[in-house]
Order: sequence, then structure tokens, then C-alpha cells
Amino acid sequence: MKPFKTISNLFKNSRDSDILSYEIKCAKCGEKIKIRINPKTDLSRVFEESAPESASYVLKKEALGNNCQNIMNITCYYDLSYGEISREISSGKFVDKDD
Ligand SMILES: [Zn+2]
Repeated sequence: MKPFKTISNLFKNSRDSDILSYEIKCAKCGEKIKIRINPKTDLSRVFEESAPESASYVLKKEALGNNCQNIMNITCYYDLSYGEISREISSGKFVDKDD
């Protein structure tokens, strides 16, 4: 019984349900990269006037694969409950889960 207890505690502490995950693909070499976002620490409040309406949080992240030097710039906007409003990426693309 003990290992089960430990595992459930781990899940509880990491609050996996709050983690946003994306898979992106490098436009240059095709490498797929998984990104995990913790809304509590990785998102910033939105102050720009250019942000989409009702956007409360923004994610700005640079991602780099292992195969090449192509840096992908990710910008995503979220509402107050971390629901995604828009997503953008340069030098790469978002991969759908069943792609
Ligand atoms: Zn690459």
C-alpha cells in the first residue's frame, strides 16, 4: 500500500491538471519538442494593448531543439482560468496530438 500512497501524493503536489503541454515541430529540421508550462510560474499578466480581447495571461517562450540552432518563439494568450485564446509560433509549428 505504501508505494500507492507515495504516488498519489506526488500527483497531488505537482498538480498535473494545471500543467499545459504543447508539442512543437522545428521548421528547419523537423524535430519535435515537448514543452510543459506551469501557468503559475511561466505566464505573465497581460498589459499590452495589442493583446486579444479578454486575454489575462501571456506566455512568451523560446524553444530550441537538440538538432539545430533554430530558435522558435512561442506566444500564447490565455483567459483568467488559463483557457487558451490564441497561439503563435515562429520558425516552427504546433503539432496536434494525433499528428
Ligand atoms: Zn531544428
